[in-house]
Amino acid sequence: MSRTNLTITDELDRYIRAITLREPEALKHLREDTESHPHAGMQTAPEQGQFLHLLARITGAKKTLEVGVFMGYSSTWVALALPAGGKVIACDLSEEFTIRARQTWRAAGVEDRVDLHLGPAVQTLDRFIAEGQSGTFDFAFIDADKTNYSNYYERALQLLRPGGLIAVDNVLWDGRPIDLSATDADTEAIRAFNANVYSDARVAISLVPLGDGLTLACKL
Ligand code: CA
Repeated sequence: MSRTNLTITDELDRYIRAITLREPEALKHLREDTESHPHAGMQTAPEQGQFLHLLARITGAKKTLEVGVFMGYSSTWVALALPAGGKVIACDLSEEFTIRARQTWRAAGVEDRVDLHLGPAVQTLDRFIAEGQSGTFDFAFIDADKTNYSNYYERALQLLRPGGLIAVDNVLWDGRPIDLSATDADTEAIRAFNANVYSDARVAISLVPLGDGLTLACKL
């Protein structure tokens, strides 16, 4: 048995997608429609969306948090995993992108399962905490501006119930964290975030090298 991760070639990647991806029509449509968008790279990979869906199911999530909505790809996958009465509490800054997200939620039939909060997410999460929502969320997905990752994580952890799960995207940041010449603010923020989580005794962790790297942290 190998002690290292298998290198995923383009061919293997296509194979994985061909034999596992069950992408809902509304999401396939969104992805194809936005492939040429200048920020298309911000969109969650389909395998990752499906993985988030699975995680939401495994944790029996009913109330979930998303920081960084973009065009609604990941929130739709998660919303489709929720039971009746379940909610994705979604935070984003951009009115422009989330207009598209609303169309996607509607097309996928989950519009009533998503509450969108527009504005700086740190403030939104602080408001949730002030309102007494600490310990009430089952699942959280963080995929927004990297310089605020540690701020989002800290607040999401407080909002989560014990046994709840946080998933954080882009923790391998295209390989830049191990490139010592990369000292830009985003890369430094990802390095700091990864180090923080590693030394955080409040969670059990695993880094899944899926897409651009997904860290899972289960609140103890
Ligand atoms: Ca991402």
